[in-house]
Parts: sequence; structure tokens; C-alpha cells
Amino acid sequence: MNALLNTHTTPSDSGVYAARRARLAAALGPNAVAIIPTAPERPRNRDADFPYRFDSYFFYLCGFAEPNACLVIDASGHTSLLCQPKDLEREIWDGYRLGPEDAPSALGVDVAVDSNTIDDFVPQCLENKAVVWWPFATHAAMSQRVDGWLDKVRAKARAGVRCPDTQRDLCALLDDMRVVKDTHELATMRRAAAISAGGHIRAMQRSAKGLLAGADVREYHLEAELLHAFRDAGAQFPAYTSIVAAGANACVLHYRAGNAPVKSGDLVLIDAGCELDGYASDITRTFPANGRFSGPQRDVYALVLASQDAAVAATRAGARFNDPHEATLGVLAQGLLDLGILNKDKVGTANDVIANKSYSPFYMHRTSHWLGMDVHDCGAYSEPVAPGEATQSRILKAGMVLTIEPGLYIRPQPDVPAAFHHIGIRIEDDAVVTDGGCELITRDVPVAIDAIEALMAA
Ligand code: CA
Repeated sequence: MNALLNTHTTPSDSGVYAARRARLAAALGPNAVAIIPTAPERPRNRDADFPYRFDSYFFYLCGFAEPNACLVIDASGHTSLLCQPKDLEREIWDGYRLGPEDAPSALGVDVAVDSNTIDDFVPQCLENKAVVWWPFATHAAMSQRVDGWLDKVRAKARAGVRCPDTQRDLCALLDDMRVVKDTHELATMRRAAAISAGGHIRAMQRSAKGLLAGADVREYHLEAELLHAFRDAGAQFPAYTSIVAAGANACVLHYRAGNAPVKSGDLVLIDAGCELDGYASDITRTFPANGRFSGPQRDVYALVLASQDAAVAATRAGARFNDPHEATLGVLAQGLLDLGILNKDKVGTANDVIANKSYSPFYMHRTSHWLGMDVHDCGAYSEPVAPGEATQSRILKAGMVLTIEPGLYIRPQPDVPAAFHHIGIRIEDDAVVTDGGCELITRDVPVAIDAIEALMAA
């Protein structure tokens, strides 16, 4: 394959994608066809685009990273790829294109055609089909386009051509496939997790070393360490905008890395992970800027870590998605009382704290989300139920991947001892569900108090 090819896929992977397409095809039902476009390029400002990122569903089914491409898969599994034609002029400016001639051998698709012919090619694929599937949720703007293609088929009715009478949402089918990761995906996610862990270690060490040397350390310096580690290891992007929050900024949940000084005596919360070959990692660590936890910081950190331990212990195949969250709440509720952050004369027992959500000024987010190609990955969080029935949290299966990320964010408030004010702590690891429990794939970066202090002293 050409060395300049802008793809993360090698021919040896093509069997993986073919198997996924076959599974999807089998789920489409008879006489159906699925259309899966990749993502559009998006302008950032004049003459400059945002870095291109393919559509996750599309990439999941073919591993092809070029823009202006679309898959058409029928119920037999026959797959057509629409892709950019070879064009020397465009390739000089924008980069190498695989082109329709080489695509079948490189990607294992049955047919490849010039994507400029899409408005003729797709209607042909729809002729005499009953159902057309396409991703409603991620490509809502496609609706008019699909209607136009169907109009073209309908216009041939008098020639005896049948037009599909049903449009269905492909997201539901693909979400259910993607929520359980295969071995190919898990291998990539483990690599992404290891790279991200390396980035967190660099940032921790930069903080301690810089402060010890009397340097001006800013949040963006620590972000630079993360970005260096991600790119140096070959990850294409951060999976989301990195959060690097020094001191009180940690209590702003979606704070970005800014230019605030990282001060000795403060905590730093970093929530950052790379995207490698289409797969996200998502790690949060909170550490003392100078490498040593203070007493109150240590107390809150130990509580958050204990709540994470409880969540990890509750994560296994057969448990429900909500179980880790409930385990977290049980530990946090008791700990908030024990530390005097909540006053038991006012809020009662740990059970009362949970029932009345008295923890919510300090813990306002959920403990987990799915993780995969998208950092908040696709997949339902509840089991399907009949209309009118109460929803039930999803039953975990081996191969599902979720974050486990409890936290406490203590803004100054009248009843809370001042020693805890402005402490914001989150600890987040990525867990692969297994039959007996879960595998934490992000523990190359330490999480225990002693281990963090030792790493930062090194
Ligand atoms: Ca995160």
C-alpha cells in the first residue's frame, strides 16, 4: 500500500471490517440496503478546515479515513464504496487519494466507484428494495438527500421498478454492535490507554519538577506535556479537549486548559486522553502540584478513591450499568458525613443522604459512560422494555467498555469546613467488562496516594 495513504488501516485488518459488515448485513432483514456516509469536512475559518475526523460508524465498517466517501451495504453483505477519484491536481494540494480502482483490493469491498456519481449510483442500489437504513441520529441532514434518491427510484415505477417504502434508523443496529468491543477494538483501546497514561505521567512530573525549580508553571505547560506524549506515540488527536484545572478551577466540570498558574499547595485535575486509530481513551488524575498531598486533600482523595474501588468491584458481566454508580454513592455519602462536609444533624444518615440527594452539591455527575470510537460512545444505557414499562439499567456484558469516574467538587459554602474549600478531585479509569469483573486498562498511571507521591518525587 502506498506509504502516503491517509488511513489507519492495513490490508491485514480488512477481514475484521468484512466480518462487521457481514454481521450488519444479517441484521438488516431481507430486501434491505444500508447507506453509511462518512463525516463531512468542516471549515474552521477562511480557507482552513478543522482537522478531519471520519464518521465513527463508517470507519467501524471499513477502516477508511478519507473524506467524501460513503458505503452501501445490502442484505447479502455486498458492499459498495463511493470514494474520491484519483486527481493529481487535488492530490498535490490535499494529499494522496486511494481512488476507486485500488479500493477493492486495499479495503476488501466488492465494488468502488467515484463519489461524484453518488446521485446516480445510490438510486440504482435502492431499486427493488423494500427498506433503506441510514443513520438518522448522526446524519439528520441526509434526510432530503435520501428523499431525492427515492424520488429517482419512484420515477421508474411505470417501468416496474419497486421503490423502498420504509426508512429505518441504522444507528440502533450499529450502536448495539459497537457497544460490545471485539478483540481488534480492545487491542487498539489498550494501546490508546497506555499512551494517555504516559501523558499523565509526563504532566505530573513536569508540575513537580517545575515548582521545585521555582519555575512559572501554567496549566498550558501541563497540557503541552499531554499533547507531546499523545503525538509522540502516534496518536492522531486528543479524544476530546483536555481539561487541565489548577486549584479552584477543578470545581468547574468542563474547564479547559487555560493559563492559570499551577501553585505549590494546590491540586491539579487533569482529564485527558488520546484518540488512536479511531478509538478514545479517557483518564482523569488529580495530584498535588508540588508532589505532596496536604491533610485535607489526602482525606478527600482517599474518599474518592475508596468510592472508585467500590465502583470497580461492582463492575462485571451480569451487573447493571447503574451498579458502579450506586456503589460510588454509598461510599461518598458515608464519607461526606465522616469528614464533616455534610452535617449529620442536618442531613441524617448515609441512606438519607442518598435518598435526598444531599451529596449533589459535591457530586453532580454520573459515575460512568460508554467509551469507544466516541469518547461518550454510542449504546443504550437501559434494557429495551415494552411501552409503558419502567426502564431498567443495562445489563453489562463482557467486552463492553465504560469509564469509572467518581469525584467530589467542594465549592465554599457555609456549612463546609474551610479546609476543604476549592478542593476538586476526580479519578477516572477505563474498564473493560469481563465475566468475573473488569480490567482497568488505564492503570499505567498510578492512582494510589503513595504511588503518585513517589512518581512525582522521582
Ligand atoms: Ca473524562
